Amino acid sequence: MSKGSSDILKASEIIKRGGVVAFPTETVYGLGANALDPIAVAKIFALKERPSFDPLIVHICSFDQISLVADEISPLVKELTDKFWPGPLTIVLPKKSIVPDIVTSGLPTVGVRMPDNSIALELIKECGTPLAAPSANKFGNLSPVKASHVKKQLPDVDFVLDGGKTKGGIESTIVSVKGNICTLLRPGLITLEDIERVMPQKFIFANDKPEEIIAPGLLKSHYSPTKPLYITDLSKIVFPENSGVIVHSKREDLNVKKIICTSADCTLTEVAANLFSAMHTMEEDDDISQIYIESVAEKGLGIAIMDRVKKAAYRYTKSL
Ligand code: AMP
Ligand code: MG
Repeated sequence: MSKGSSDILKASEIIKRGGVVAFPTETVYGLGANALDPIAVAKIFALKERPSFDPLIVHICSFDQISLVADEISPLVKELTDKFWPGPLTIVLPKKSIVPDIVTSGLPTVGVRMPDNSIALELIKECGTPLAAPSANKFGNLSPVKASHVKKQLPDVDFVLDGGKTKGGIESTIVSVKGNICTLLRPGLITLEDIERVMPQKFIFANDKPEEIIAPGLLKSHYSPTKPLYITDLSKIVFPENSGVIVHSKREDLNVKKIICTSADCTLTEVAANLFSAMHTMEEDDDISQIYIESVAEKGLGIAIMDRVKKAAYRYTKSL
């Protein structure tokens, strides 16, 4: 048996005993527990210090499992899952009573997705139950894209399944589906254009300003580094000493302590994949006192990237 599968077995044993395990997905690392066990799920909220009003996404490993936790699996939902699962699309649907209220923060709906990561899928299969799993960070802090990021923020987690750096780098896109109306609740790795491309005319995008949607957990400040982060036009700023700068295309003209390039040429999938790890590296560097970051255009995947960047910088914007 490979080390990978023995680790998955160990993780599944912990989860079957009501414990909590961090595991990789294609977006960020998740903190998983048996979604059908309210006591186990309560441990996730406690470890993360997550407010109880913020519902968790339920992760499944097969198309059949969706009907265990959710109702109203319409042909349109089926079409979405056929196109995008496994993948970074969470679908909010009426919940089945088997899902404890703590998972959904008392809502009558549940967010469900099937992650596109073989370790995550094997783990869920081995557990024999869907896993409730938010990102494996302290509430409000940077999302983890490596096992070391999890251990930094959650040293008390029972076990961290190490699957290397996650490939997507930011969280899933969340949509709710009611009848034939599909509403974007959170922008993510799958863009509206991706969805529209495969479902022309089928869905009404009831909202094209995601930030105005009221959904639990969609706070203005989130995903923040522990050091000040400012979104800036780099040509206009005189950098104080000990500044770190995150850029999205190659540049050598900046006189600062540290520069991290998320992409050589602003390829948005690379920017997304490297965004949180760049912020973690700056956060961990004792020589850096404040971080500056460039914007990207808010189009396509740029919408989700800027959503995360603005939330990460929000608590520091007033002091600029
Ligand atoms: P994450 O922090 O990536 O685990 O995503 C959790 C987010 O999913 C929450 O903060 C909500 O915004 C959203 N979510 C989960 N379940 C529901 C639901 N039943 N209804 C609306 N939004 C949900
Ligand atoms: Mg999160």
